[in-house]
Amino acid sequence: MSVAGEPSFRESVDLMFNRAVALMDLGPGLEQKIRVCNSTYTVRFGVRLRGKIETFTGYRSVHSEHMEPVKGGIRYALSVNQDEVEALAALMTYKCALVETPFGGSKGGLCIDPRAWDVDELEQITRRFAYELIKRDLINPAQNVPAPDMGTGEREMAWIADQYARMNTTDINAKACVTGKPPHAGGIQGRVEATGRGVQYALRAFFRHPEDAARAGLSGDLDGKRVIVQGLGNVGYHAAKFLSEEDGAKITAIIERDGALHDEAGLDVEAVRQWIVRHGSIKGYPAASFTENGGALLEAPCDILIPAAMEGVINLSNAGRIRAPLIVEAANGPVTFGADEILRRKGCIIIPDMYANAGGVTVSYFEWVKNLSHIRFGRMQRRAEEARHLLLVNELERLSSDQGLGWTMSPGFKEQYLRGAGELELVRSGLDDTMRGAYQAMREVWHGRQDVQDLRVAAYIVSISRVAATYQSKGL
Ligand code: GLU
Repeated sequence: MSVAGEPSFRESVDLMFNRAVALMDLGPGLEQKIRVCNSTYTVRFGVRLRGKIETFTGYRSVHSEHMEPVKGGIRYALSVNQDEVEALAALMTYKCALVETPFGGSKGGLCIDPRAWDVDELEQITRRFAYELIKRDLINPAQNVPAPDMGTGEREMAWIADQYARMNTTDINAKACVTGKPPHAGGIQGRVEATGRGVQYALRAFFRHPEDAARAGLSGDLDGKRVIVQGLGNVGYHAAKFLSEEDGAKITAIIERDGALHDEAGLDVEAVRQWIVRHGSIKGYPAASFTENGGALLEAPCDILIPAAMEGVINLSNAGRIRAPLIVEAANGPVTFGADEILRRKGCIIIPDMYANAGGVTVSYFEWVKNLSHIRFGRMQRRAEEARHLLLVNELERLSSDQGLGWTMSPGFKEQYLRGAGELELVRSGLDDTMRGAYQAMREVWHGRQDVQDLRVAAYIVSISRVAATYQSKGL
């Protein structure tokens, strides 16, 4: 979505980058080297469908190869274009650097309305697109590792992985050519929920610092906070679900493409999701008020606004009327450069996309490592961990009875303490640690430098310094 008088998405990302590098001291030429997109491959291919040849246009853009493989999702949408793919690839570079996943940035896209085709047709199209990218090493475990994005999911990733394996029959690391696969096809537990989970961990990290929350005029923790979520796709759904079910936040509005639901008492996220799955729309959902003009709810009063769908939804046309004191960019690029300026002037705090939605690529990193190591996380340690815990519990019980102390353990403690961590727990632990670490790095710059006023510039400074350090150590 681009509004008249605003720069394109890619220009918007570049302008944000420029605001940060203006405060940095990069060597001559390095700034330009980091900013520019290294290459964008465009492919047009035909697939015979419904008795005729349909031509599709797809892209794979590589923004930075300071580390390889490069990483980033593949998007299926009619709105996909080169400018968008390049903007998203650049964001991947900065995102990966910020959360310390050892990747360069990339992104792909296919101009297609995935709802217009049935599953068999989508498989044919996906395999053909994958074939075009694989034969140019634009899908490769060591060079370029795609993942899901808008309009794609586990199913498409499984097709891509299989296509790669068919074309590289002796590559023992074939499964690592793509992440976001279903668990039974080399995926990892917790990848589907990862981006939404990351949004939750990002918010927890923010509220762990009362002085940071105070900058948005907020206090306390997430309990009782009124949250508006725009987009109930994979990211918005999981974020809203976890925040409401685990942190006590109230989801007061859910905005979808065909309208919005509103309930100040808090919506039941799971029930809304089930309604959408069954009816294909939020229309008719009985337990909340419905507005056709969903966009208006972006401007409704709340504590936290979570745009979780498309880029550019908060732009020059509505930024002035946004009332949320805190925006969490669960989508990539939901706030345009111009809107960002307006919101900052109003004192709104923005937790930027490259941090807020980095949970996806973080767990993708775990999946890639799992594929390369050919073993599930926790498989070697789990029972050993349990055995050591059992030693301690047995010893405590022996002491208690030998000494007649009469100690009893709290209900459930023993079971919980004795259970060794499985893959899902390890993934969540790794993700939480990553989100806390990245928040700390960002906040040190935010608080530590007089000339840095906002989290976005802080995030860019952390990322760009890391990318620059890699280039410098390569002698570039
Ligand atoms: N498409 C997601 C993103 O924008 C995930 C990328 C990945 O896992 O490589 O971050």
